[in-house]
Amino acid sequence: MTESVTKSVEDMTLEEKVGQLGQLDIDVFMVDEEIDWVKYRTWMRTFKFGSVLDSPFSGGPNADGKVGYTAAEWRAVLHQMQTIAMEETGIPIIYGLDSIHGATYIAGATLFPAQLTMAAAFDPEVARTAGAVTAKDTLAAGVNWLFSPVLGLALHPAWARFWETFGEDPFLASRLGQALIAGIQQPSTAQGVVPDRAAACMKHFIAYSDPTTGHDRSPVTMGDRLVRQLYVPAFEAAVDAGVLTGMESYQEVSGVPMISSERYLKTMLRGELGFKHLMVSDFEEIENLYNFHKAACSVREAIKMAFLDTSVDMSMIPTDSSFFEDLISLVRDGEVPESRIDESVRRVMWLKQELGMLEEPVPPLHDPRLATVGSEEDQDMALDAARAGIVLLKNTDGLLPVAAASTKVFVTGPTAHAVKAQTGGWALHWQGGSADWEYRALPTKSYSVLDGARQVFGTDSVTYAAGPGLTLFDAPGTTANLGGMTLQEVARSVQLAKDADVVVLCLGEDNYTEKPGDIDDLTLPDAQLEYARLLAEAGTPVILVLVEGRPRLLDGIAKLDNVQGVLFAGIPGPQGGLAVAEIMAGVVQPSARLPFTYPQSAANVPYPYHHKPSDMCTDPNDPGEYVTCPVEWSFGAGLSYSFFAYSHVQLSAESISEKDTITMSATVTNTGAVQAQHSVLLFLTDVIRRVTPEYKLLRGFTKLDLSPGESANVLFTLGVEDFTFVGLNNRPTLEGGEYRVALGPDADCRADGWDQMGACHVFLLQLSAGAADAVCQSACKVLEHSGALHTSFASDDDKAAAAATCSVTCADEGWRWEDVACLEQHAAEAAMGLRAAGYVGQCGSARHAMDGLAALGAGAGSGSGETSSSTDGTDDVVWILAVAVGTLLVSVVAVFAYKNNKSSSAPDRMRDPAACDSGDRYAVNKGAAVQTPLLGETSYQPHKI
Ligand code: BGC
Repeated sequence: MTESVTKSVEDMTLEEKVGQLGQLDIDVFMVDEEIDWVKYRTWMRTFKFGSVLDSPFSGGPNADGKVGYTAAEWRAVLHQMQTIAMEETGIPIIYGLDSIHGATYIAGATLFPAQLTMAAAFDPEVARTAGAVTAKDTLAAGVNWLFSPVLGLALHPAWARFWETFGEDPFLASRLGQALIAGIQQPSTAQGVVPDRAAACMKHFIAYSDPTTGHDRSPVTMGDRLVRQLYVPAFEAAVDAGVLTGMESYQEVSGVPMISSERYLKTMLRGELGFKHLMVSDFEEIENLYNFHKAACSVREAIKMAFLDTSVDMSMIPTDSSFFEDLISLVRDGEVPESRIDESVRRVMWLKQELGMLEEPVPPLHDPRLATVGSEEDQDMALDAARAGIVLLKNTDGLLPVAAASTKVFVTGPTAHAVKAQTGGWALHWQGGSADWEYRALPTKSYSVLDGARQVFGTDSVTYAAGPGLTLFDAPGTTANLGGMTLQEVARSVQLAKDADVVVLCLGEDNYTEKPGDIDDLTLPDAQLEYARLLAEAGTPVILVLVEGRPRLLDGIAKLDNVQGVLFAGIPGPQGGLAVAEIMAGVVQPSARLPFTYPQSAANVPYPYHHKPSDMCTDPNDPGEYVTCPVEWSFGAGLSYSFFAYSHVQLSAESISEKDTITMSATVTNTGAVQAQHSVLLFLTDVIRRVTPEYKLLRGFTKLDLSPGESANVLFTLGVEDFTFVGLNNRPTLEGGEYRVALGPDADCRADGWDQMGACHVFLLQLSAGAADAVCQSACKVLEHSGALHTSFASDDDKAAAAATCSVTCADEGWRWEDVACLEQHAAEAAMGLRAAGYVGQCGSARHAMDGLAALGAGAGSGSGETSSSTDGTDDVVWILAVAVGTLLVSVVAVFAYKNNKSSSAPDRMRDPAACDSGDRYAVNKGAAVQTPLLGETSYQPHKI
């Protein structure tokens, strides 16, 4: 055990504190592909940085063909980094790695399917397992901060990070996000190991995944209500699950870059969601306020904006020293209060403490978990995840499964023999493997679809031709010759198709993520479509396998008669090819469902299943008729080789109030001939609503495993949170009325004649008097989250009583939404450490409530219990209320002191053109090399665009 850290925030110098808020890319310290430890020490001594991220291999393999550090090599790096950090500053760094679908940057670690493919399993256990293995491998490497999970929704199908999400549904993303976080953050099962616990990172806060154009990092034009309705649930669920860190995002929302958004990064994050832990910026995003968003007139101003307007704690700088210099000078010049810095440093230090780093800062070189990285057991789990996530979408006349024995299979297409494509981005490198040799060189297993087919059907039964090249789009001039194929190659493929019993045609995309994955056309490259048509004409049944990170438009090829089978594999990971072959042969039963809507035409995107009822297309046969728009496959689509019947479907009541719950139960029977898993999905239709309802919403799912003839009962419970929506005032709201509920994705409870089909069950929500009291719920939630309600209470009973009292007081005093907003503002400001005493604040009616108590002699803030002489049993209640309100008062006082001072002595947030237009920094930021006064020029070339 190494020396523990005793330094507290109070003992730190301003330089030390600012240092803790800076995260540098490891590339800063790389010289000739090696870490230059002298450089690392010099930067540490000079800037005292608190965090490092990234892998030296994020851009690709090195000149020697090395694809990454092994876990043992990483551990040696971390050992050395922490030793130097302790020698120079007495505080360990926290290292963050993008451990996405497996430990991305650890050579030899187990890689899992991408989140999108995991989501298709509709099974939180898959996500939890992936999180646990990923964190174990990352911890084995000595790293304890994982930049995962991605909690945005896959709404725009062209977005290059579609595959990084859990799909388009807020409920599914919430449940799976919680499971992944639980897996990542679970303490190590090995005893006495360092580090023994990891932090997950919910990202990217918030609404990043729905750029209007579909281009990564492009503006989002969504309003606040939809942001809340769609994006808040998964982040709220993550906060509830105890996620330890968060990351903001690259885009602007309604004209305001996220990194300067007071609305989202302060009021919502800290005030409403009550997130108390470390928030890191995305890569270079503070500087981007100047460089990219054009919202600040200098980098210095950008830093000032981010720290004053938001509650961000750490800047992913990532490659120069100006952040440290600017932030120190901003504090010294009185432009950013030191208390603001202190609050963020506290969060950084709290995280390090929580993760045990202050007690044992330096990971020893040896760790028992090193031996488990890439173990058979872990790889089996990843293979199981792929098997569970591959979706069967078409199976004409039961073509599938095809008999493994004696079937001649022709495997072809750009993704047929491409482990790199099926493993996607964030695998070995930022963009994923550059070629298959990188995966093949590792001790872990890889199977392309061709490998899988050979294994399952026998090498002699499988023929292969590459087909068109593996690209994201047709290179100019290559369409005419099928993506570079010669006439002979085309003719050979057609002949091989004719000679086979079945054609396995693997189409899709090369690997990518982020901006490099942008496309101008959602349709699959023409060469692939043309190749598909040619093969379909050959007369042999075709099974189309889609290996792609987003739903590329198929231009009708999936509907061709001869295309009798379709499998959506998504990004199934390095072993995904085996899982595909096993499913084709029926060795493994398909059980997955699409976690997104697969679009059919470019005009109808985005068109998630939860679109609004008025989002309609015109009936091509009758222009006067509106119809729901055609899609290729809907959310929840997914076939099995077995059959399942639902019986005894019933609701527990015809009418409930918001205080009740209602259950839906059913018996599900496997009526087919094989044992298979089956996900039961429950959808709720809110028939009429002032803020227009969704077409329907997923509100429950569960997975069954049934033998032929076997039945199981399922039970779903719906309660107030399932009926709550974001109302006219952009706040959680309830409206009474009719709801329809159905099991399975196919039931359409809005269709004409829905009531004749028998699948939809109806109940009424009848609100009781005062039920729609979302104001008080929200207000008390803020007080509870911020700790204002609870600071003075020792026991849980007292806390519960305080919470109950808050609601009563709120209702009695008639608090309004303005009061809630005021409380949120206060909580957020308090969380940023921006407070001063001496001003009697007010949160609308909340203040009247306090005044009323003061008049009762409550003695705000005393908590003495000497507040009433009553002997009628109400003493406790009054006392509790007094303490709660007293605590609130103190906090509110603080906030308003800060706000009121702003116009006089508090920092000025306005831009100062003179400061921006003069001085060296302006010249530097106009493109000159970044100078680090003490260290000279950094040779680093950022790997991000
Ligand atoms: C991505 C993040 C990632 C970060 C660090 C950014 O470009 O948006 O998801 O965690 O880089 O690599």
